[in-house]
Amino acid sequence: MRERHLFGPGPSNPYPEATRALAEPLLGHLDPEFLRIMDETCEMLRTVWGTSNARTLPLSATGSAGMEAAFVNTVHPGDVVVVAVNGLFGQRMTDVAARCGAEVIAVEHEWGQPVDVDRVLSAHPSPAIIAAVHAETSTGVRSDIAALGAGKGDALLLVDAVTSIAGVELRADDWGIDLGYAGTQKCLGVAPGLAPFTINDRAFERRVEKPRSWYLDLGMLGGYVGEAGLKEGGKAQRTYHHTAPTAMVASLHAGLTRILDEGLDAVWARHQAAGDALQTGLEAMGLELFAAEGHRLPDLTTVKVPEGVDSAAVRRELLERYDLEIGAGAGAYAASVWRIGLMGHNARPDAVLLVLAALADVLGRA
Ligand SMILES: *Cc1c(COP(=O)(O)O)cnc(C)c1O
Repeated sequence: MRERHLFGPGPSNPYPEATRALAEPLLGHLDPEFLRIMDETCEMLRTVWGTSNARTLPLSATGSAGMEAAFVNTVHPGDVVVVAVNGLFGQRMTDVAARCGAEVIAVEHEWGQPVDVDRVLSAHPSPAIIAAVHAETSTGVRSDIAALGAGKGDALLLVDAVTSIAGVELRADDWGIDLGYAGTQKCLGVAPGLAPFTINDRAFERRVEKPRSWYLDLGMLGGYVGEAGLKEGGKAQRTYHHTAPTAMVASLHAGLTRILDEGLDAVWARHQAAGDALQTGLEAMGLELFAAEGHRLPDLTTVKVPEGVDSAAVRRELLERYDLEIGAGAGAYAASVWRIGLMGHNARPDAVLLVLAALADVLGRA
């Protein structure tokens, strides 16, 4: 099969370093060399999360399992959970929270708009949890998490950072994020399969003693990453919980190393420059952007399908003629919006030119 240019909402093309790591000889999950890689991975994850939380680790499952872990460990039966819903992933949060026994208050927004902080903060006088998606991949919108953190009061702030981590500014500790989850296949530039997770002491102390999920019980995962991951300067005490997906962790380690070698600020700036160039180019082509101006993500651009154009036919032609995949719209916008990701390794000027040229050709606007 030929190599694809993956510009959809995910997975994106991995960083070459992360791909090469998958071809290295496999390590055992208790090999000291692997344990070193795991420790370093957790440490690098703290940097990209912007946190000093000891409990920061890659969960062995995709981003959605990170979402499930966040709620199943913190929602006590009947807890009020306020969820900001401005797209598909906010909707998914309401479903997951409800299944964990929460009394969910969904604060609905028009798709394409950022989270209305005042409405979310005034939705209930004393919620147990306030949950929001930082970067809504379904709409291409970034929301103000710092403002939610400033006004959260006694509530825990639970944040989805799947499409923001290592792509746009993210400062978990400074912004008051108590717990959050991410994914590897978006801006981290690694294949799908792990959920970088972080939780602070405040949230961990309020956790459910025996959550309904055995696999995602954070109380049992301390031994999995080793006590060193939990106590600064502590000695690694590993207990078997499940077999670590060693190849995936090694790949994440390689991706994170590559990101931090470039520098997190430089990586954010590279995503911003690529997104700006793509959005300017699309508008120059006469196309209209979907996400509200001033709140557009650089790493995921939503653009309206022009009147009379068959959305699926364009995507098919891009794939067949250019090996280039862009995403359809989400939910009600499946046929009327395209989603173009510039994540991780794809956040580059040559990638922007390729997308713009291919789209102009297929649309006959060259
Ligand atoms: C992709 C994504 C998820 C889900 O991650 P999976 O790895 O597909 O399970 C959750 N939230 C957001 C914002 C996403 O973009």
